[in-house]
Amino acid sequence: MPRLPNPILKDSVPAYIGLGSNLHHPIQQIQQALHRLADLPHTQLHCHSSPYQSQPLGNLDQPDYINACAVLHTQLSPYQLLAQLQLIENQQGRQRTAEKWAARTLDLDLLLYAQFTIQTAQLTLPHPGLYTRHFVLYPLYECQPELILPNGQPLRTWLTTVSHDGLTRLNRVEALAGKP
Ligand code: AMP
Repeated sequence: MPRLPNPILKDSVPAYIGLGSNLHHPIQQIQQALHRLADLPHTQLHCHSSPYQSQPLGNLDQPDYINACAVLHTQLSPYQLLAQLQLIENQQGRQRTAEKWAARTLDLDLLLYAQFTIQTAQLTLPHPGLYTRHFVLYPLYECQPELILPNGQPLRTWLTTVSHDGLTRLNRVEALAGKP
């Protein structure tokens, strides 16, 4: 029997999550995190991108990252959602260090919450890396090619300003088989 698409959760807003991992079986970390995002209260996982492989920022002496993007429809506030993301990071063994670009089992960034702009000690929206990071923009484009960014630019146009050198989209089947 064909599956009916999930109706959009009433009074929900779209929230875009950037996922990244470069420790302890990154592909599995990302898959586990996607399951956990799908299980969040008052939230639906609308779609997610393929996994992408990227070179680490800053400190190059660490393994490559696996990145992905997920689109949620949520009734949670941005702060409630951020707290849930941090809970998932902790559940997956995230060790917090003072080092800015340290290797990590799981990093979940709230990239966008609808078109909100927020600048507080706890939360910056859009996420500060949104406009410049290829490993954020290309997976986001795969999820939502028609997205208009809060700066008024279509994501499709903005992408042309950011090189995808060093970023590799992984075949989902290969990724599921445990590569890299
Ligand atoms: P990170 O090292 O990238 O995991 O940064 C985590 C810190 O960034 C936390 O203290 C968050 O409160 C803060 N933060 C600010 N804005 C965001 C955002 N849009 N998404 C995730 N964390 C954020």
